[in-house]
Amino acid sequence: MRVTERLKAGGRVFSFEFYPPKTDEDTARLFTAAVELKRLGPDFVSVTNSSSGAAPYRTVALCGVLKAQLGLEVVAHLTCLAHTREEIAEICGGLRKMDVENILALRGDPQNVAPAALRRDYSYASQLIADLKRLGGFSLGGACYPEKHPEAPTPEEDIRRLREKVDAGAEYLITQLFFDNASYFRFLERTAAAGISVPVLPGLMPITGYRQVRKFTQLMNVSVPAALRSGLERWENDKAGLFAFSVEYASRQGEELLRGGAPGLHLYTLNRSRAAIEILRNVKGAAAA
Ligand code: FAD
Repeated sequence: MRVTERLKAGGRVFSFEFYPPKTDEDTARLFTAAVELKRLGPDFVSVTNSSSGAAPYRTVALCGVLKAQLGLEVVAHLTCLAHTREEIAEICGGLRKMDVENILALRGDPQNVAPAALRRDYSYASQLIADLKRLGGFSLGGACYPEKHPEAPTPEEDIRRLREKVDAGAEYLITQLFFDNASYFRFLERTAAAGISVPVLPGLMPITGYRQVRKFTQLMNVSVPAALRSGLERWENDKAGLFAFSVEYASRQGEELLRGGAPGLHLYTLNRSRAAIEILRNVKGAAAA
């Protein structure tokens, strides 16, 4: 069942995000994780995409394998900054051949695209979504930012642009990771006030280190609550303690989100299964409530 239909069917939706592996070791880890996570019966898995060269085809190929070999419902991330309209149509043709029916349509980050590879057909995700809607045949999702996209001048302006993305055809949204649930619930109030009524799936990530947090806060405009910061400091030199703390933090976050009415959880897995398995087991009670 496509993602949009799953979300409409009611019940909570659980999903996992993977990235295309780069090394043999990465590849083995991803497939082990995918097989283990499949046992939890996710509603879908998504596969990221980078904007350069043949990367979209790696995403298409991995989506095809996860669907054909493991029977998973798959969402292909598709960025547009480095593509012409013809290339986007060709990638969509590849996805159709792989029987992939869901696309998370994104702009991509200009700083990750070599200047010579930047194309002029698309400046924003809403333009890609409008084109994909015209092409037809895909369930379409988009990205959103509870703490505002870093480039947006104000939260209000960001939400006005998000409304354009939904009006263009995004049928659901997945959030940037966040660590403070208040930002998600505030965001839902703002989006509802702006007339956005599509489901907003919260993106959760168990943190594996202090350095990782610094990267997120600097690059992504994501705030780190004091409780998370002090836990990471406390367990900085104890791998097992850090893992347990991190899973516990994400589990409590997930429980509160589900009890507060979130339509489900999207877990950023970094191609590993253990934390995701434990988090889902921990939030089960809240999911059933
Ligand atoms: P847009 O919706 O186009 O928004 C980008 C900025 O432009 C925002 O500040 C917005 O307010 C503003 N804006 C929008 N429309 C207009 C307009 N008409 N005029 C002026 N300003 C406007 N990146 C990858 O490279 N690969 C991935 O696989 C990937 N997966 C992601 C998954 C999720 C769930 C999320 C949240 C992000 C993901 N990203 C990925 C990152 C994403 O590409 C970047 O955050 C990017 O900077 C913005 O993408 P977007 O689709 O949200 O852009």
